[in-house]
Amino acid sequence: MLYIGCHLSSSKGFAAMGRQALELGANTFQFFTRNPRGSRAKDLDPADAAALRDLLARHGFGPIVAHAPYTLNLCGAEEKNRIFARETMADDLARLEHVPGQYYNFHPGSHVGQGSETGIALIADGLNAILRPDQATTVLLETMAGKGTEVGRSFEELACIIEGVAAKCPELSDKLGVCLDTCHVSDAGYDIIHDLDGVLDEFDRVVGIDRLHAVHINDSKNPCGAHKDRHECIGKGYLGSEEFGGGMQVMQNIVSNGRLRALPFILETPNELAGYAAEIKLLRSLQQ
Ligand code: FE
Ligand code: FE
Ligand code: ZN
Repeated sequence: MLYIGCHLSSSKGFAAMGRQALELGANTFQFFTRNPRGSRAKDLDPADAAALRDLLARHGFGPIVAHAPYTLNLCGAEEKNRIFARETMADDLARLEHVPGQYYNFHPGSHVGQGSETGIALIADGLNAILRPDQATTVLLETMAGKGTEVGRSFEELACIIEGVAAKCPELSDKLGVCLDTCHVSDAGYDIIHDLDGVLDEFDRVVGIDRLHAVHINDSKNPCGAHKDRHECIGKGYLGSEEFGGGMQVMQNIVSNGRLRALPFILETPNELAGYAAEIKLLRSLQQ
C-alpha cells in the first residue's frame, strides 16, 4: 500500500484537509503550519484536531507531514531572527501534540555568509532548545538543493546537525529524522536517475537509513547538480521526462524501492488539485 498525497492548503482547518485528501485519492498529505511568512497561526480548535485524528485512523492514513514556514532560519545572522524561528517552531510543535505521531518537516536554514560550520552549530543549538524528550512528533530535516547559502545540501551536513544535537543531549536526537526531497537531492548532485540505490547506500553510511522517514516526490526543472530548487510536475522534468530525464522508470524506481516504499510520499509539484489527483493515481499505478 503506497502512502501518497500532496501539499494542501490548511486555510479551512485540519479535518477539511483530511477530507480533501480522501477526494484526491491520497492517504497522507502535507500542510503549512501557518502562512509561509511565519506569521501568527490561527487558534487551534481541539474538536477539529480530534476530527482529523479520527479520519486518519478510520481511513488507514500513513503519517502526515506538517511543514514549517520556509522563511524561518535557525541559523540567521541576527539573533532576533534565530529567536523568532525557535519560538515559531516550538509553538508549532506544541500544537502538533493535538495530532500526535506525525512529522514536522523544516528547511534547516541558510548560513547567510557565516559559513556552513557556524550554520550547522546554530541549527543544532536551536533544535536542542526546541525539542522535548516527551514530544510525540518527529522533526524532519529536509534535504536541500544547495541554492545560495542553504545548509543541508549534503547528507554530511544533515548528519552533522543530528550529531550536534546528540552531543548535547542524545535522547533529543531520537526526535530527529530526514525527509528526502527528490528534486532537491538531484539538484544537490546526487544521481538518483542512474544510481538510486547507490545514493541510498551513501545516505545509510552517512546518516543512517532508519533516520529516513518521508519523501517529497517532485520532478526538477533543472539537471542533476544545478543547485536551483525549481520543482516540476512528475514526468515533465530532468528526473522523469522521456526527453531529458530518465523517463517514468525513474519514478517507478523511487516508489518501488525497498528502502522507500513504506514511507509517506508527498507531492510538491506545481499543480492544481486535479493535477495532484492525476499524479497520485499515476504513482500508485507505477508501484511494484
Ligand atoms: Fe520544503
Ligand atoms: Fe520539499
Ligand atoms: Zn523545493
